[in-house]
Amino acid sequence: MEIDQSKVSETKTAYISMEIGLESNIPTYSGGLGVLAGDTVRSAADLEIPMVGVCLCYSSGYFYQLFNERGEQKEKEIEWSFFYEFDKVEKPIEMKIEDKELKVSAWLYRVVGQSGHVVPIYLLTTEVEGNEPWKQKLTGSLYDSTSKWNRIVQEMILGIGGVKLLNSLGYKNIDTYHMNEGHGAFSTVELYKNLNEDLEHVKQKCAFTTHTPVPAGHDRFNQELVRKIFQDRFPPKLLEIGSENNELNMTLLAMNCSRYINAVAQKHGETTREMFPNHDIDAITNGIHLPFWVSKPIKNIFDRKWPNWKANPDVLSNAIEIDDLELFDAHLENKFNLINYQKGHSWNLLDEELITLGFARRFATYKRAVLIFHDLDRLGEICKGEVQFIFAGKAHPRDQAGKEYIKKIFEAGEYLYDNYGVKVVLMENYNIDLAHMLVSGVDVWLNYPERYREASGTSGMKAALNGVLNFSVLDGWWIEGYKMKKESGWAIGKFPEEYKEGENINDWERDANEIYDILEDEIIPTYMNHDEWLFKCKNAIALASYFNTHRMIEEYAKRAYNLKKQKPWKYEVS
Ligand SMILES: *Cc1c(COP(=O)(O)O)cnc(C)c1O
Repeated sequence: MEIDQSKVSETKTAYISMEIGLESNIPTYSGGLGVLAGDTVRSAADLEIPMVGVCLCYSSGYFYQLFNERGEQKEKEIEWSFFYEFDKVEKPIEMKIEDKELKVSAWLYRVVGQSGHVVPIYLLTTEVEGNEPWKQKLTGSLYDSTSKWNRIVQEMILGIGGVKLLNSLGYKNIDTYHMNEGHGAFSTVELYKNLNEDLEHVKQKCAFTTHTPVPAGHDRFNQELVRKIFQDRFPPKLLEIGSENNELNMTLLAMNCSRYINAVAQKHGETTREMFPNHDIDAITNGIHLPFWVSKPIKNIFDRKWPNWKANPDVLSNAIEIDDLELFDAHLENKFNLINYQKGHSWNLLDEELITLGFARRFATYKRAVLIFHDLDRLGEICKGEVQFIFAGKAHPRDQAGKEYIKKIFEAGEYLYDNYGVKVVLMENYNIDLAHMLVSGVDVWLNYPERYREASGTSGMKAALNGVLNFSVLDGWWIEGYKMKKESGWAIGKFPEEYKEGENINDWERDANEIYDILEDEIIPTYMNHDEWLFKCKNAIALASYFNTHRMIEEYAKRAYNLKKQKPWKYEVS
């Protein structure tokens, strides 16, 4: 494998992430965090940011999802072998787990930007000759939660192994180790050792992004266990500043070792500042990589109208100029595409005439997938002959409540079909490819998480880019999106500050009724009026001028990476 040494020494930023969605079939992601990481490095490559990425290479991925006839989730290990796309790092690094030596090697995946600039991504693996079988399994599956021990070890491989590997490859001029979520926070342990136990110096080198708006979501480890696995190699100083009630908290560790900390949407910034009042916390709203997420028919419109749109997504703010008929045809093509695909994958066939509402994301319970089925008879009455639904998503293998939600969707679908002829389709194995089809092929994109738990959310941005209207609770990015362009969709409920002290902000009954009212009084009547609908679709597209990772990575470059905006990171499209 050849690495261009001049590029290595120019590299300033190391991006460290437990998941990264490079391609649909490379199973190094489970949800939004990984897809965001993928979009980040795609934009970094386009804008020629001198970046290198680090993640793990999961030999059996997250999992392949199937449903049985009762709507129960079945998980299958993924077997994959795209290694011909990768180069292997020849010389493994060595690190210690308890008192045992572990060899860690990596596969190199190259993310190539519009102008040819490469962001190398090193996917760490313990499937290395010389490692015993139990060691080779350590990088087996993503979020291996069989035990806390496994989890800590995987995070050690990412953080410690990652920093060691970059050093061994000659990345000596890294100014910023960017920890994308707390999983990578053990990198501070290796940096602390390399920088002569100078905490201030470690701090100057690190930046941290948090994605988790609730305390329970942060990784915490019992100090005893940490001591057992690290033995005497965990610096007491770091254990002290990273712990709370005798537990090591990866978020705290990362925050206390970083010169720069940010949340991923403006509201999420507020929530995070309340959770960590002693830290200076910035907010950079997430985005999506537009060329990756735009559907072909919509891309064709953009290409004709604004040949330079990829380099300069600002032009999409003029989306209102798009020709109605062209947009209508493009959307119809996307809808046919989705329905055609769906026909091959589920017994219940969708109907292209009907308003199609889509919901797809991880079935974590806070996302409340089943909220819309709160009153099935009211929903059935409203939707019959007018509206149909398509759902997709995975529940974490150990999340029983999430799996129950999947069953409830199945059961609600049967009831609605038997009593009202309303179709609810549930698609298996949500991944990036299916996301592409869903976010462009449905008419309305649903999202109704518990309020202030969605740090940002990004699937709604993908929908907007493709002219699909958001119908969402005002949380995460949609607070900003809806403020920017109210015409681009509908809000379920009020803005955060409009709820009264003591009011239950997540009242299911109230939220469900709000959904039914809007569906009945606004969405269905508007759909009947082509001009009004298309006007809204164009407003949705205009949001993409802001909610994209080019804008986002420029904010990171300035504020988190201290990079100067100059020639190396602006590309021209040929
Ligand atoms: C975009 C995306 C997500 C994130 O969706 P949210 O709206 O943030 O929940 C999850 N999974 C896949 C496959 C995606 O493409």
